[in-house]
Parts: sequence; C-alpha cells; structure tokens
Amino acid sequence: MIISFPNMGHCWPAFKTLFNTLDESIEVVLPDPTNREAIKIGVKYSPEFVCFPFKATLGDFVSAIKKGADTLVMAIDCGPCRFGFYASVQERILHDMGYKHVRVIPLDQADLLELKWVKTLFEIAPPKNNKLALYSNAIKAVISFVKKAKLLNDIQTAEGLFRAYERNQGATTDTVQKLLVSLDETKKLNELRKFKTVIKNTFNEIDVDKTRTPLRVGVSGEIHISLEPYVNLDIRRKLGEMGCEIHQSLSLYDWVVHKFHLNYHRKWLEHLSHPHVPMDIGGECVWVLGEYIDKARADFDGFIHQYPFTCMPEVTARTIITNKLKKKYNLPTIFFSFDEQSASEGFRTRLEAFVDLMHSRRNQEIKTKAEFIANGNKKIYPHYGSNFYNECAQLIKTQ
Ligand code: SF4
Repeated sequence: MIISFPNMGHCWPAFKTLFNTLDESIEVVLPDPTNREAIKIGVKYSPEFVCFPFKATLGDFVSAIKKGADTLVMAIDCGPCRFGFYASVQERILHDMGYKHVRVIPLDQADLLELKWVKTLFEIAPPKNNKLALYSNAIKAVISFVKKAKLLNDIQTAEGLFRAYERNQGATTDTVQKLLVSLDETKKLNELRKFKTVIKNTFNEIDVDKTRTPLRVGVSGEIHISLEPYVNLDIRRKLGEMGCEIHQSLSLYDWVVHKFHLNYHRKWLEHLSHPHVPMDIGGECVWVLGEYIDKARADFDGFIHQYPFTCMPEVTARTIITNKLKKKYNLPTIFFSFDEQSASEGFRTRLEAFVDLMHSRRNQEIKTKAEFIANGNKKIYPHYGSNFYNECAQLIKTQ
C-alpha cells in the first residue's frame, strides 16, 4: 500500500508518522507542495460551485497518485457544511478521471471520542497474525501523531513571534523548514519529549532586534485556508515580514484536542460567541467570532479573517462581525476570501494598507492614552498567550 493525504501546511510530519508507525510496510508519499498546476487540475475536474479546499485537495491527490499513491486519506466531518462529502465525491471524480485503482479512505473526525477513527486505522493496517503487535503499534502511532501535532503547534507559535523581530528577512522561514525536517526524522518517543527544547534553542539562534514593538494581530478562519500557505498567499509570512506579531491558535493540534473534547481554549471561545451563534454551524464560524471578541478584549491592533470564497459558515461569521460585533468592539479587521482567482499583488496592497492603518491607530493611542504616554509613548499590551508563547517572548527579551 502506498498512502498519501492532502497538503495542509506544516501538518505532514504528524500524518506521515501516524501511517509509518502504524505499519512499517505502509509506504507514505507526499504530494508535491500545492502549486498552480495542482489547483488547475482541481478546478478543472471539480464541480464549479464546490468549496475551494475541495479543489485544492483534489489537485494534491492527483499529484500523489502520479507519484505512486494508491490509497488516499481524507478527513470528513458529519456536516453541517459540505466537508462531510469531500471523500466520497473526490473518490468518484478520481475514478471518472481514470484512476480506478485508487481508494479514498474517509477519516471520520466528527467526534474522536466515538473512536470511529480506530476502525479506519485498522482498515488501513488490518490485523495479520499478531494482533497484539498491531494494537501496540496503533497506540504508539497515535501518541507519536499527537506529540508531533503539538510540536508543530509550538513551531507555529514561535514562528508568529520571532518573524516580527528577525533582523535578516527569511531567517525565521529557514528555521521553520529546518525544524520540520528534523521533526520528521525524529521517531523515538523519548526524543520527541525533548524536541520542545530543540525548537526553543533553534529559534533562539535567530538574530533579533528586541527593541522593536511589533503590532499584535490575531489571525483566524477556515482551517485549510488558514494552514496551507499556498492557498492563503502566504499571509503569515508576509504579515510577519511587515513587522506584525501573529497570534493564531488554530492548528492541527488545536483541532484534534477539540475533537477529543479537551480543548478548553475553544470552550472559552464558544462561550464568548454563544450570544451570536449558539451552535456549531460548520467551518470555524463559532470560534472565529470567539477569537474576534477575545482579541478585541486583549487590546490587539488588528484581526484577520480568512476563508474560502462561497464558504457558508465563514461568510456568516463575517456578516456577524461586520453587522454586530464591530459596533461594540474597536478592533480593526480585514477579511480575505480566497479561491483559484486570488492573486498576490492586489492582496499585498490590501495587506500593506491594513498594516498602515494599524500603525496609525496605535500612534494615535500612544499619544492620547495616559498610561501609554507615561510609558514613554509605548503601548502596553496585556499579558496574553500560551506558556510556550511567553517562554519564547522571554527568549527574545533576554537575547
Ligand atoms: S467549512 Fe466552508 S470551505 Fe470547508 S467544507 Fe464547509 S463550507 Fe466548504
């Protein structure tokens, strides 16, 4: 069996580990990084009205099949939006395209406590003679997957912070690439336990200018668009290089923990958004609204909401922010809707204009608010972020 899965930013080391540890005879191939060609293929063979992530992931699947993959894994949910149909429709399209030998295995992640995903893992690696060995491999695979997902989350946190301080543009991007390769090569659980220190030490090698006071920006939106840099036109890198510190809690780990009902940060966001949307309507709608309110209360300089064109849940979130929340909270916000037509030049211009707006708003604040004037015309940001974020902030301060 040669297995593959679609691109979603930096998540690949976690998925690769999951399948490799499950059964050593499974070969994992990665699709090429999402590119224009993959999008062209995805757009050509997908229904015109379908969501953009469907098209992008279909293009990734074709790329993986061309590299030999015969089994493709696609996450599914129970709805309420179109995500529940991705796997079955994509399989039919691939068969119609002539790839009749290919199977698309749906990985049900609607509620991970229902353990439907365990059946899927055993479907991928069926028990042979030694059932005990399979169970022990499955447990090890899941632990390694969750550990790597957590470490990827830490890399994302550090990346959002360090890039705003780097003296040599590109140093953070290079560090992230180096860490991804190193994380992929780390197989043993005891080495994974120490990898958090590796992340901190590697980021600490970046030459930073600690005198800067970067703008604090919250980034949220639909998961595929938020995590895959090709489809979001690399918004995190561009924003970071414009001097913004990025806070994005959405990650693979954040999602998996949420689906195990253990994500208390998400429960807090649900509490904040409850008066506006009292139930999950798909996508990240509920949590985007919670993030918006949370960031506004934490005195952030701006908020970015990104989503695929035609995504119903995210358009609902946008409408609630624009029509209701903006009247209550003074948080500059910009919305980006992405599809196959998105082009980087107009996008960059809008992003630069937004950064200028945040700068002028902050300049106004530091000239008029007594506590900022008393602080030498410097904005004081409230304490915010995870323990790991604060450990990284400390590293920058003491460099
Ligand atoms: S969240 Fe949006 S983009 Fe994703 S499947 Fe649902 S409607 Fe489509």
